[in-house]
Amino acid sequence: MPDEKLQIAIYWGAACGGCDVSILDTDAFILEIDKAADIRLWPIATDGKYKDIEALANGDLDVAIMNGAVRNSENERIAHLLRQKSKVFVAYGSCAYMGGIPALANLASREEIMECAYLNNPSLQPGNTTVPRPRTSLNGYDLELPEFYPRVYALDQVVDVDYYVPGCPPQPGQAKAAITALVQALTGQAEAPPKGSVVGAYERALCDDCRRTKSEEKLVKRFYRPWQIMQDPDVCLMEQGILCAGSATRSGCGVRCPDSGIPCRGCYGPAPGVADQGAKLLSAVASIIDSKKAEEIDEILLTLPDFTSFANRYSVAASPLQRSHRR
Ligand code: SF4
Repeated sequence: MPDEKLQIAIYWGAACGGCDVSILDTDAFILEIDKAADIRLWPIATDGKYKDIEALANGDLDVAIMNGAVRNSENERIAHLLRQKSKVFVAYGSCAYMGGIPALANLASREEIMECAYLNNPSLQPGNTTVPRPRTSLNGYDLELPEFYPRVYALDQVVDVDYYVPGCPPQPGQAKAAITALVQALTGQAEAPPKGSVVGAYERALCDDCRRTKSEEKLVKRFYRPWQIMQDPDVCLMEQGILCAGSATRSGCGVRCPDSGIPCRGCYGPAPGVADQGAKLLSAVASIIDSKKAEEIDEILLTLPDFTSFANRYSVAASPLQRSHRR
């Protein structure tokens, strides 16, 4: 670890908090981070203020690690601020990388989301007409809330990103590997990965690391949700009719989901060479359907769970397969 401490900031945008917890989950490694770095901002763990970051000169932060997507004006403001103040800017976790779960909201309009959350929802008092507004005047005071954008953005759709760490959340071992690589690069102990690299994961698809056997010939007459059949624990889930995103997804998680009988949902992002996870998965589905008759194929496809929100579950913001939004 370096003599002079690195200056780092860790921040969350539209996220669930799991990415921050994944850094805490590195256990004793946190003490190594503490030895190597001053943490100037980390809302989940320390009491840094935005104004302290604003007071820094550009480049004073060695690295900013931001998890979460950009859903509102505050997320965007802080993403720009951290980018401006840091030498290296890292998109950490699926939401920062490709929009993640929050970007599934890109399948609906802002008006539909407001309607569902605040106006027409069984858990609300009937007749509610109050929706959040960016500005409200009350008793002589002006109150402000961040503006809710019409869509969710991946970080690199808003600011320049140097590196990506995938995962929902990144596994602690991967988080440790990625942070170690960055610290070594910043302190001159190792060469920096090329700009734009995905760090802390592998250059192969999840299927390459999965221990389940694949025959390459097995076709299916219908698809199942995992709880609908007794699965063979040794056979590829796709070949049992359970939609699994392993062929479209980068490896790096340790194959934890397929090993536990749960199909891969794609949180590590596109496998190397895959431009769009949904399109790749569509082609995998087409290749295992056991029919050449249009009507029967339609029947088989009807047994698929909601395909769009499965195939691009973590990557809607980065996919061409989404509705258009005006800002
Ligand atoms: Fe394993 Fe899923 Fe790939 Fe089948 S599709 S080999 S279950 S990761």
